[in-house]
Amino acid sequence: MIDLLLRNVVTAGAPEPVSVAVTGGRIVAAGPELLPSLWEGLGEGLSKAIPAREVFDAGGRYLIPGFVESHLHLDIALSNDARRPGRPEPFVSMAGLNAAIERRRRAFTHEEIVRRATAAVHLALRHGVTALRAQCHVDMEIGLKHVEALQEVKESCARLVTIQIVAFPQQGLLAKPGTLDLFREAFRRGADVVGGAPNLDSGHDFRDHVDAAFALALELDRDVDIHADLALKPSAALDDLEVVHVARRTLEYGYQGRVTVGHACALDSAPPDVAREAIALLKEAGVSVISQPDLYRLGRDDRQHVRRGLTRVKELLAAGVNVAYASNNVRDALRPLGNMDLLEEGLILAYGAHMDTVAELETLLRMSTNHAARALRLPNYGLEPGCVADMVLLDAPSASAAIVGQVEKLRVYKAGCLRAVNQPASSQLYME
Ligand SMILES: [Zn+2]
Repeated sequence: MIDLLLRNVVTAGAPEPVSVAVTGGRIVAAGPELLPSLWEGLGEGLSKAIPAREVFDAGGRYLIPGFVESHLHLDIALSNDARRPGRPEPFVSMAGLNAAIERRRRAFTHEEIVRRATAAVHLALRHGVTALRAQCHVDMEIGLKHVEALQEVKESCARLVTIQIVAFPQQGLLAKPGTLDLFREAFRRGADVVGGAPNLDSGHDFRDHVDAAFALALELDRDVDIHADLALKPSAALDDLEVVHVARRTLEYGYQGRVTVGHACALDSAPPDVAREAIALLKEAGVSVISQPDLYRLGRDDRQHVRRGLTRVKELLAAGVNVAYASNNVRDALRPLGNMDLLEEGLILAYGAHMDTVAELETLLRMSTNHAARALRLPNYGLEPGCVADMVLLDAPSASAAIVGQVEKLRVYKAGCLRAVNQPASSQLYME
């Protein structure tokens, strides 16, 4: 007997509704005429009247593999006042935001980080997230406090959301002696991915920072995830772009498919021919790009035609680069907004990146699912037989209806287990 049969679901690319069968946490079959072949395949003991322990008729709603939050600062998430969300202090500068988080984090305790991060994971799960990559501060000032807390959350939440921890150099890799050894220890304590942030390595050339991150990754055989080209520039030559240096190093070290860059905002400042060349390099190097639709943050000194800090999402996609989007910061000193909701972030990106056709909205939904899973190199991800049954049933008949309508995520499954049920919003109109 199979564990679960989701009937009458719509999936991307399928011309008509299908059924999806799950057993042992995996999708074992998916197709329009599923039941007879299932009975044959599963043999004796399968009752035709009750082919599965649970059967759910989805009524023609849209089924997607679980949302993947590919870039989230989980250790500092939800650190604002929950009762009065919003930035408690005025915006001063980008550097001022980093100073604010470093000021605030001195009061963080292990228990407090665990409590907030767990609440953030639960909120993400409620919104259909089944895997996330957590950026996590590691530096000489706080040591391994955040890594130890997130490792605890990673283990306690493993059956709800798959978590990868990125060792994130909030105070640089090179600026303070001992940092690289601290990073090595972070990987012994559970960190998964080597992070990078050239803009935070004061006094050091971005190339040296990127090279240090790669050296560590090669030494430890880890993937790389770098905050690149975060700041806007008046213009940018090819060699000035951090993403270009990352792509070149990726090719040099044979790290294709193992490298991700976040933000890539300055790519938008580069002239079109330079951007085209940079994008071709990213494609050749198999570097994934995570766009954060953080329209609130950059260009604050612009007095006209205010730049909003998005990368060239559509051009990257058109060139075949693996592009995803993510929340980045949620209700903390860097971004006071956000709900751990990738359907919401997708709508923001739809506005910001001029993505409004049906096909583009479908692409957006793939970006926060399939593309993000590829960036994280999640094994067996998707809705095909053999995939881990991480699935979200949306209260909509299609991808574009889900994003435009900001619909509810009715059922969230992690490895075939039902982990969240949400009711669609209901309202009563009184017309007379
Ligand atoms: Zn970030």
